[in-house]
Amino acid sequence: MNETTQTLLAKARELDAQDKLAHHRNAFVDAPGVKAYLDGNSLGRPLKATAERMQSFIAHDWGTRLIRSWDEQWMELPGQLGDRIGKLTLGAAPGQTIVADSTSIGIYKLVDAAAGFQQPKGRTQIVIEEGNFPTDRFIVEGIASARGMDIVWLKPDPIMGVQATEVAAAVSDKTALVLLSHVDFRSGALADMQGITKVVKQSGALMIWDLCHSAGCVPMQLDEWGVDLAVGCTYKYLNGGPGSPAFIYVAKERIKDLTQPIWGWWGAANVFEMGPEYESDEGIKKFLSGTAHVTSMIGTSCMLDLIEEAGIETMREKSRTLTELAIEAYEVLLAPLGAKLLTPQEHADRGSHISVGHEKFNTVIDDLWADGVIPDFRNPDNIRLGLSPLSTSHEEVIIGMAALAAAIS
Ligand SMILES: *Cc1c(COP(=O)(O)O)cnc(C)c1O
Repeated sequence: MNETTQTLLAKARELDAQDKLAHHRNAFVDAPGVKAYLDGNSLGRPLKATAERMQSFIAHDWGTRLIRSWDEQWMELPGQLGDRIGKLTLGAAPGQTIVADSTSIGIYKLVDAAAGFQQPKGRTQIVIEEGNFPTDRFIVEGIASARGMDIVWLKPDPIMGVQATEVAAAVSDKTALVLLSHVDFRSGALADMQGITKVVKQSGALMIWDLCHSAGCVPMQLDEWGVDLAVGCTYKYLNGGPGSPAFIYVAKERIKDLTQPIWGWWGAANVFEMGPEYESDEGIKKFLSGTAHVTSMIGTSCMLDLIEEAGIETMREKSRTLTELAIEAYEVLLAPLGAKLLTPQEHADRGSHISVGHEKFNTVIDDLWADGVIPDFRNPDNIRLGLSPLSTSHEEVIIGMAALAAAIS
């Protein structure tokens, strides 16, 4: 190990020693052989509490109470877990957030509901961004095609992401809705949610935020900032486990306006009436369609306990020291080897992951993973380091960055 790396490691250990949240790392399941897990932005680590809760769930809630558990607790889970996500991570009062389906389905429901509300008013355009996550773009393209609407593509700077001024220039009295990511999945750029939402609403359009890369690591105030609609996943920074369901947020004053397209029995006013016609619930439950993903909600519920203890604002501070250290390590270890930083330099402009590009990354990623150094690779040459505040140590960041440097040098 060279001197530069040793200096960085010493600094990382010092930061870990001062870290008020460091002890929470013990709450996560050990991963023998893993030296640096830097992919919390794609799949958060499981909690020991989740393993325990899963066991008692199978033995008791499911195994012993059997179908009685639906009445005893499960029917209310989508709303209860939604309210907790809203309170602890979104700045959302109860009755506006619900857990269901996948993010893709959630986006489909919200975009289609918003389009259906706006289109009869002559608002026929949907504004999205060309760099957005594929599922967001594909779903909007499908809905625009089915409804005969037009797409207005924003082409923001790939590192700094969408700015409020660009959105202001794109919206008009023809805009039905705008769909954007709060944190860009590639660059990690953090959008000005408050400013952009304001601009969109002034134009009379509806604003939909995709929170996949910010829920559970970036504090936000959906209610206060007047956000209309949002959707996010629970398997990234909310540690729900692979395939855990998404959440949907609909601002209270918007719920009555919108009709979502998947009319299922769980969205009906009375689920067990089994009546002849669909009559939707009046509250947030109208955005449900089918049976709750009960088993897959356990991990998120346990992670929320931990977030409640740690506090989302304190987690954001840790995110800052982690990403700042990663950028410092990039500058001395990776930049001299020709790597490029593809993430905003300022903490206020980014979420909890950083992105680095180098042409050799695609040839070294398999060996790094085999060796227990696990960042995230995206074609063609992009490595993302997702630094989940409660499960990542500063030392881990340096171990990972040093291994990356060694691999491409
Ligand atoms: C992870 C992610 C998704 C995932 O959608 P799924 O339906 O859960 O597969 C969607 N959008 C963004 C921005 C993401 O980062």
